Amino acid sequence: MSLLVVGSVGYDDVETPFDKIEKALGGSATYISLAASYFSAPINMVGVVGEDFKDTDIKMLEAHNINLDGLEIVKGGKTFRYGCKYQYDLNVRDTLFTHLNVFENFDPVIPDKWKNNSFLLLGNILPSLQLKVIEQMKGLRLMVCDTMNLWINTMLDDLLVVLSKVDMLIINDSEARLLANEPNLIKAAKIIREFGPKYLIIKKGEHGALLFGEDSIFSAPAYPLESIFDPTGAGDAFAGGFAGYLHKTQDLSFDNIKKAVIYGSAMASFSVGKFSTKGLENLSNLEIHDRYIEFRELSSF
Ligand code: AMP
Repeated sequence: MSLLVVGSVGYDDVETPFDKIEKALGGSATYISLAASYFSAPINMVGVVGEDFKDTDIKMLEAHNINLDGLEIVKGGKTFRYGCKYQYDLNVRDTLFTHLNVFENFDPVIPDKWKNNSFLLLGNILPSLQLKVIEQMKGLRLMVCDTMNLWINTMLDDLLVVLSKVDMLIINDSEARLLANEPNLIKAAKIIREFGPKYLIIKKGEHGALLFGEDSIFSAPAYPLESIFDPTGAGDAFAGGFAGYLHKTQDLSFDNIKKAVIYGSAMASFSVGKFSTKGLENLSNLEIHDRYIEFRELSSF
């Protein structure tokens, strides 16, 4: 059984109050796949890039056991580009530009060999494209999805169809409030779970995450990091660690989903420690395990 990741692959320009980087590897599928690669292998990635996508990036992803048979390289096309600037409060991000380039005509085609019996993680792409992916799948064991404010505001009907089909939704607190049209997160979670997902995870930036199940709520702590370099991709790293751990353990009990939330939080904490995907490129299993233990200690009293 494989872990299939579908999302954006691109190059980001990121500016924080402390530093600036241009044309750095990014994209939801990239962060998700890298984070998941520490738990299960191979990760099957579906996305699209242009001819300008660097060979060194392909090699780095392959070195993490990420299977790129589903990564379309469009001849003469340009890779997706995204630019953002963080304010002094790193929880606040302004989008400077989004150049869809080859992503504009992205038509995800899932290779036949990946259609059966998969764990599917749908990164943040147009809900209509997420639906296209879901329709191609045959035997799905678990479907996890992410979305963003833009789609809640502009593509709500399609998004609600996606939500009626997925098992788990991972979003941040402002998206949850927007989607449910409800300021209280507990009430919002109830409303969103009625749209379809059995489990809902609400990320609260540097303040941890909440997991909502049938009758239970779990509050995961935040990791007290002294230096956050680049919050870009933290949500995707969370989703990758989360789904990677569930895929590895094949255990969908609430207790194990709680552990997956902690592994997701650990991967997010590594991701923000360096610019671009660098924080996810050279980790050891021991480092990840140690951070998991630190998280556990943070929440026991
Ligand atoms: P996150 O910080 O987890 O929200 O994810 C940031 C990543 O999402 C960046 O690496 C971007 O390249 C990518 N991204 C930004 N906007 C979009 C979009 N509209 N569609 C798909 N991916 C995007």
